[in-house]
Amino acid sequence: MSEIPYKIYLEEKEMPDKWYNVRADMKKKPAPILNPGTLQPVTKEELSGIFCSELAAQELDDVTPYIDIPGEILDFYRMYRPSPLVRAYFLEKKLGTPAHIYYKFEGNNTSGSHKLNSAIAQAYYAKKQGLKGVTTETGAGQWGTALSMACAYFDLDCRVYMVKVSYEQKPFRREVMRTYGASVTPSPSMDTEVGRRINAQFPGTTGSLGCAISEAVEAAVKNEGYRYVLGSVLSQVLLHQSVIGLETKAALDKYGINADMIIGCAGGGSNLGGLIAPFVGEMLKGENKYDIIAVEPASCPSLTRGRYAYDFCDTGHVCPLAKMYTLGSEFIPSANHAGGLRYHGMSSVVSELYDQGLITARSVEQTAVFDAAEMFARVEGILPAPESSHAIRVAIDEALKCKETGEEKTIVFGLTGTGYFDMVAYQKYNDHDMRDFIPTDEELLSSFSKLPKIERKGL
Ligand SMILES: *Cc1c(COP(=O)(O)O)cnc(C)c1O
Repeated sequence: MSEIPYKIYLEEKEMPDKWYNVRADMKKKPAPILNPGTLQPVTKEELSGIFCSELAAQELDDVTPYIDIPGEILDFYRMYRPSPLVRAYFLEKKLGTPAHIYYKFEGNNTSGSHKLNSAIAQAYYAKKQGLKGVTTETGAGQWGTALSMACAYFDLDCRVYMVKVSYEQKPFRREVMRTYGASVTPSPSMDTEVGRRINAQFPGTTGSLGCAISEAVEAAVKNEGYRYVLGSVLSQVLLHQSVIGLETKAALDKYGINADMIIGCAGGGSNLGGLIAPFVGEMLKGENKYDIIAVEPASCPSLTRGRYAYDFCDTGHVCPLAKMYTLGSEFIPSANHAGGLRYHGMSSVVSELYDQGLITARSVEQTAVFDAAEMFARVEGILPAPESSHAIRVAIDEALKCKETGEEKTIVFGLTGTGYFDMVAYQKYNDHDMRDFIPTDEELLSSFSKLPKIERKGL
């Protein structure tokens, strides 16, 4: 092996103590989020009814580049961070590529994904504000698990509305959350008005993420001392996730490595936005140039086939409107198994960077993703989450291109988590029972026709 170790670990004292807010360095900022009632940019006061006030402030702050990470959050980060940047020597060898491949592994904690980086921050600010608890939704379960861990740490009540089909199909995720003290309610439930309405309208429904969001928001607004928290999409979540990119940059710098290409999977855009933040910052300041690729499933292709428009963030239309690449808030991706990449829209920060041409995007099909996951597991040992495997797919494709051209590119990708709770999907793959779903143009057009008609000057 060469002088670069298999795992590059930072020392604790080299961990970042500030998050980086890439919006501060963007000349053209992401468009403001709008109040769905007035269609005016939301104010901090309005947002503070749903979110903790400190988080509402972070959501609207597009001018402060560095924000101190509070000491209590750093203490918690130290339990599972810094996360390793791994040189994928075994994958390189398997591929026979001259490319140098690195991955930043965020699956080294019980929740099994990067989501804990923001869960702990959101729980901290809720506690600091003296709240009793928080509400949220979870689909595949990673976010609910991360939030349960964070709430247990700060002794906060945690109420999770879990999409009914996942609640029934992923009992072990549910039990992890309950072990950390969260209450987990299958959605749609009979606890909320919106849940009762949907149950009456669609008897026997197995639920959807959009419906669970509406239930969680209602539960927060109607219960004194509660606020709603969200695990992706929001700019505050990207801010917290910048810890991934800052550590990656510090680890590369430690060995004088310059990345050529940075690859991340994109659901709501939080891990990607966090991983690329400091690198995009350098590009915005004209200091460096990187090829950045967002990878999304062909079944839910918001960047590669969506519209850049104001849209609702939830099916119940209670959350603010955001300008983003979107497939339409009523778009329901065909049942595929990349649970965490099924959101109809994309973070407004990632959307704006994409629109400005600072990053590119690619969509990949499910079976090709699992081919990559299987190869990666066999040579690098880690069983990757299906979501993360989207990034692995494109990293492998790019490394194979280097094999043809003989280029020694340095490729860095985000390995967001492990796939132990996704064995139903792996089983389908192993049984050759997995199919690729790609929405037709007609389906997308029909969904776009329901986008809200909002004209705002200069946006
Ligand atoms: C939630 C999740 C994702 C996708 O979410 P982003 O906000 O796009 O980062 C990716 N990987 C894993 C393991 C997840 O749990």
